[in-house]
Amino acid sequence: MAEAAAQLEEYFVTEDCIACDACCNDFPDIFVMNAEHTRAIAKEKSPVGKFNPWDIVTVCPVDAIKLVNLPMPAKPEGEKKVEAAPAETDNSDWERRWAAVRDRLEPQWERMKRYGMASSIDEEKDRYIVRFDMPAKVPNHRLKFKWGLPDDMPEYKAAVEIHGGNVKIRAKLEDEKVKKLCGWVNSFPEGFLRELNFPVPIKSHRLNYDPETRILEVVLEKAQPERQAA
Ligand code: SF4
Repeated sequence: MAEAAAQLEEYFVTEDCIACDACCNDFPDIFVMNAEHTRAIAKEKSPVGKFNPWDIVTVCPVDAIKLVNLPMPAKPEGEKKVEAAPAETDNSDWERRWAAVRDRLEPQWERMKRYGMASSIDEEKDRYIVRFDMPAKVPNHRLKFKWGLPDDMPEYKAAVEIHGGNVKIRAKLEDEKVKKLCGWVNSFPEGFLRELNFPVPIKSHRLNYDPETRILEVVLEKAQPERQAA
C-alpha cells in the first residue's frame, strides 16, 4: 500500500527578482541565487507547516516570490512589512516610469550623502564649520514608483549634541511615506549620526540649511578661541 506523501509547498521566483539575497539568506533550504547573481531560484519544495508561507513571500521586497501549487493561507495579523498608502494622485503609469530607470546606477556620492559621509570640515580662528551635502533624491526602487513617492528627497531634521570637544550630529528623515522605503532599499537608513572629536571644547552651535543647494552647515564655536600672535 502506497504511503501518503508529505504535502510540499512549491515556490517560484518571477523575473521581478532584483537579486537582493534576502530569501536565500532567510530560507536557504528553499532558495539559492543563480550563478550570475541575477535571480534567485526556488531549488527545493518545503514541507507544509515548516514555515508560514506569508513569512516567505513577504521577505521579498519586490513581490517576486509566489507559492504556486497551493492556495495561500489566511493573512496573519500584523504583517512584517506594511505597504505605504496608495498614491493620492493618478499613478497608473508607475510601471512604465520604473522600467525607464531601473537599470540606472545611482551615483556613489548620492549614497554617501545618506550616511552623512558627503561632508567637509573647515577650521577658522574661533569656530569649526562642518558642511553636509544632504540627500537630494529618493533612491530608485520599484516600490518608490508603485507607492507614488516623490523624486526629490524630503528634508532631514538635524540635531547637535556637544560634550566638550565631542560633537554628535544627527540627521533624520521625518517624512513617514518616504521613510517606509528605508526598510526595502539597500543603503537607505532613516538618518545618520556623525561623531566628531575636536582638540578644543565647543561652547555652542548653529545650524544653517540652504534648501536650494541642500547644504547643511553646522557652525561650532570654540570655547577658547586661539589667541592671535602679537
Ligand atoms: S527576496 Fe525577492 S528580490 Fe530578493 S533575491 Fe529573493 S526573490 Fe529576488
